[in-house]
Amino acid sequence: MFDKVLIANRGEIALRIQRACKGLGLKTVAVYSEADRDASYVQQADEAVCIGPAAPGQSYLNQAALLYAAELTGAQAVHPGYGFLSENAAFAERVEQAQMTFIGPSAACIRTMGDKVAAKRAMREAGVPCVPGPDSSLPSDPQGILAIARDIGYPVIVKAAGGGGGRGMRVVQEQSQLLDAIALTGEEARRAFGNPELYIEKFLGKPRHVEIQVLCDAHGHALWLGSRDCSMQRRHQKVLEEAPAPGIDPALMARVGERCAEACRLIGYQGVGTFEFLFENDEFYFIEMNTRLQVEHPVTEMTTGIDIVQQQIRMALGERLSLTQADVGAVGHSLECRINAEDPHTFMPTPGQVTRWQVPGGFGVRVDSHVSQGYRVPPYYDSMVAKVITHGATREEALARMRLALSEMVVEGISTNVALHRDLLQDPGFCAGGVDIHHLERWLQKRTAA
Ligand code: ADP
Repeated sequence: MFDKVLIANRGEIALRIQRACKGLGLKTVAVYSEADRDASYVQQADEAVCIGPAAPGQSYLNQAALLYAAELTGAQAVHPGYGFLSENAAFAERVEQAQMTFIGPSAACIRTMGDKVAAKRAMREAGVPCVPGPDSSLPSDPQGILAIARDIGYPVIVKAAGGGGGRGMRVVQEQSQLLDAIALTGEEARRAFGNPELYIEKFLGKPRHVEIQVLCDAHGHALWLGSRDCSMQRRHQKVLEEAPAPGIDPALMARVGERCAEACRLIGYQGVGTFEFLFENDEFYFIEMNTRLQVEHPVTEMTTGIDIVQQQIRMALGERLSLTQADVGAVGHSLECRINAEDPHTFMPTPGQVTRWQVPGGFGVRVDSHVSQGYRVPPYYDSMVAKVITHGATREEALARMRLALSEMVVEGISTNVALHRDLLQDPGFCAGGVDIHHLERWLQKRTAA
């Protein structure tokens, strides 16, 4: 079906995908913007094509340039990575129309899951537990809207059906604020997402973020690969992730995991994906599905021993899943620290040249990064420069290995958040496991005050 893959992304994930392709004996085409010309993974690819200037809109988001690069090099498949065009249904369609394989689910699945109202409806029909609230967009009459919120019970959250990246949401504490919040969020949604459609659901006060990784072939088989906890967030951005989610009854986890796999079979989902849940008082509430590979996939790889990116490519090649659910184990515990080029106090990005780059190693330590000494972190993209991942027989062991790993990490020339991670790994709250999604921001506030 294909033996040459164009990797429509950059940075650590471009390298991660390149390694998976090489492991499968596939040829690779790297694409790069002018700002990424000298990146080492670009040199290591079988072929490399410049797709435009630094600005993402003119390069990594430039669909015509990407398709042209594929045509030029004879790539028959496109791997979108995460971010950029990975959840763009129109791009997936254009790739397919050009007689190439989009390494991801069908455009129809991306479209359904990209609309949060449609996604919630599909998931509820499949028996996946959702946040209380209707799976339809709001009526236009104020009385109807007020009645819905009253039924759910305050506080509620107003969300944009087309929202993403933590934008297009507003919490409403009481009835008197609801209609104003709806007007504001609707206007924002129209401007930011081109879709003014809104919905309301129950606002959960102290949930955890727990997600389930799935893997599906094109022949109706779907597996779930355990859970991850990504509750350590700042401004809805994940900072530190782990697998499995600590302290959750495995029987409960398995029931929800099985519902996710079943939902995939029902909608004909293909490839890898993630069901994101809020978890509060021992209940799971679906919030959204990501129809792509995720940054935090390595913690699942470490605990299951499954190369998720290779599996994703195999599924796109039309292979049947050779694993069954009974083959999917969960050995030990894994943590991932996202290392960003940013000021550890203000969180402002700190692009520039890396003058010293010394990464950790040893048993149970993995570093996914495209950076090396002399690399210049460009100012145009996401500031993540590395993922430090550890694995241990227990959570305590994974934590201890992470502390040691971060003590070995030396980055000079740019500021990073390594010191922040070192401090976080001493926080008794986090170390105990199971903190809620506001824990990190509370901790940061205390730290600033001290
Ligand atoms: P996005 O696609 O923008 O990431 P999500 O629906 O995944 O939006 O929500 C992002 C974050 O907003 C969640 O991780 C959670 O912190 C918060 N959130 C979303 N829905 C709720 C809810 N019903 N109750 C409480 N917090 C919520």
